[in-house]
Amino acid sequence: MNAVLVVNSGSSSIKYQVIDERSGARLAQGLVERIGESGRGRVVYKGTAGDSATEQDIPDHSAAFAAIVEEFRAAGTPIDELGIVAVGHRVVHGGRDFIAPTLIDDAVAERILELAELAPLHNPGHYAAIVAARAVFPELPHIAVFDTAFHQSMPERAYTYALDRDLAADHGIRRYGFHGISHQVVSRRAASHLGMPLESLKQIVLHLGNGASICAIDGGRSVDTSMGLTPLEGLVMGTRSGNIDAGAIFHLLRRGVSVDEVDEQLNKRAGFLGMTGSNDFRDVRAAAASGDEAANLAIEVYVHRARHYLGAYLAVLGGTDTVVFTAGLGENGPDLRELICAGFEWCGLKLDPSRNAATGSGARVISADDSAITVLVVPTDEEAEIAQQSIALIASS
Ligand code: AMP
Repeated sequence: MNAVLVVNSGSSSIKYQVIDERSGARLAQGLVERIGESGRGRVVYKGTAGDSATEQDIPDHSAAFAAIVEEFRAAGTPIDELGIVAVGHRVVHGGRDFIAPTLIDDAVAERILELAELAPLHNPGHYAAIVAARAVFPELPHIAVFDTAFHQSMPERAYTYALDRDLAADHGIRRYGFHGISHQVVSRRAASHLGMPLESLKQIVLHLGNGASICAIDGGRSVDTSMGLTPLEGLVMGTRSGNIDAGAIFHLLRRGVSVDEVDEQLNKRAGFLGMTGSNDFRDVRAAAASGDEAANLAIEVYVHRARHYLGAYLAVLGGTDTVVFTAGLGENGPDLRELICAGFEWCGLKLDPSRNAATGSGARVISADDSAITVLVVPTDEEAEIAQQSIALIASS
């Protein structure tokens, strides 16, 4: 058994999976939410011996890990008998420091906390979970796998904002990109589905989930991506605006809207939610079908922005071999896929309508046989990728 405990932590939640890295099988999974909300913590466990959900006091991340270990024991499958050989932690921001999966020691953990300056909503929760998990599993290697690392291959011209050089350097302002774990696993699986070497392929991957980003990948390396210093830049998302003229922010500030309110508006009250009242594309689609003008406009804005990037990345890459759709909307939105791909026949991109409409759960081609660009749907699996990168790191060290 080569099992990895994959931890995806936030400031008030921990999601985890125990994955057999060789087969990809999930041996158990669960979550702890509402950490720090007095008496309202929720602990959910799904294992081979059954499922459970309880409410209990979970004051901090250490208590959360204690509760997780207890769930496994109560289910009759103690966590230390599952053959776990490593703990893989998803970390959103690795800044310029982390360009690959990294074995966590005290210094690495502290650096992840320092990088909270760039990711205040994410890195403090990661740090708290890392400290707690290392105390519970001191004998296991802990590995940090970064969402930003895959994009560290971007050339300077793609990651540099046209700002005063000293200002940008002093404040660490540059584009980092996110969803790297997803873009990496999806592009590799697309290549393997096509039976082509990753190194020979140009790919454009659209990760369209509640958060959304698009990535231009040349030979397995990210060369451009739509998210920037933070995950706010780029595509329209469930609750985030994506691209907006920075001048709009000054305008709001000068009109008396506070910094925190602008931040909240752009990150949590914009996107589909702001334009339609729901961040879930299923609601937006249903409203549009019933003639709701705001919902129809929101879909048009969403598609316009995605097409804008698709065209841009065709230029960045000098054409592409594949266009790959993944994540919630990318995997389940044939209507969106059709709208985004429409009118790209000029560059040889042609969907097959029945393949696009067919439902399926695995990787699949949805372009026509005579399409010069192969369009695929490839389910993302960030947890499996974290497990694989964790095992690869300990095998090589
Ligand atoms: P993710 O962040 O990848 O989990 O994606 C979540 C989003 O995907 C949801 O908020 C929905 O907007 C969208 N989604 C999930 N399932 C479907 C579906 N069957 N049809 C359309 N959109 C879906």
